[in-house]
Amino acid sequence: MKNTISRRAVLLSGAATLLAANAKANVTEVSKASTASKKTETSETSEISASIKKLLDNLDHEKFMRLAIEQAHKVPACPFGAVVVNIKTGKVVGEGWVRAEKNPIWHGEMTAIYNCPDSDKGFDWSEVALYTTGESCPMCQSAIIWTKMPLVVYGSSIPFLQTCDFGQIDIRAQTVIDASRYGKCAIIGGVLEAECNELFKKAKALNSKKS
Ligand SMILES: [Zn+2]
Repeated sequence: MKNTISRRAVLLSGAATLLAANAKANVTEVSKASTASKKTETSETSEISASIKKLLDNLDHEKFMRLAIEQAHKVPACPFGAVVVNIKTGKVVGEGWVRAEKNPIWHGEMTAIYNCPDSDKGFDWSEVALYTTGESCPMCQSAIIWTKMPLVVYGSSIPFLQTCDFGQIDIRAQTVIDASRYGKCAIIGGVLEAECNELFKKAKALNSKKS
């Protein structure tokens, strides 16, 4: 399904400093007219380091979002799926779906992060990005910041999830990033948004039948 909804990417200085010691980036807002492009576009004023931009540009966001959607298919009534991808190799290093029935804090992102290799075994969190079908809640976005991974990509927005009756803490992921004095990460929303929205719409219909 062709996604014509524009998406926004905000590239923040913390992302750059994770992989390039000399990077000094100001907040830069980026817009994309079509998801057909796989490039992470930056404005002329961007000071994002070339090394970071190249890594982000090389990511096939739709490909990895499809993998997150595959995870979400495992839980049709609560289709939050996530994958963690190595930015350099494109290899999936962690994946998961919401396991709230087992533990209330095991959201898709948390499960995928927990399924990554351990830091003490040499796992480098500065070389990964997380893809999630739904915009991260404040807990998950905070966890993402604590890992210091440089990029998070989501499909459906928190306002849309709310329309599908998924309870949300009403704080956008970008707001959590902006509030962080520990680290920053870049964020891209609306990747395969139509497909992700469809997942949540179907879940809403499924859940309304049960109640
Ligand atoms: Zn969450």
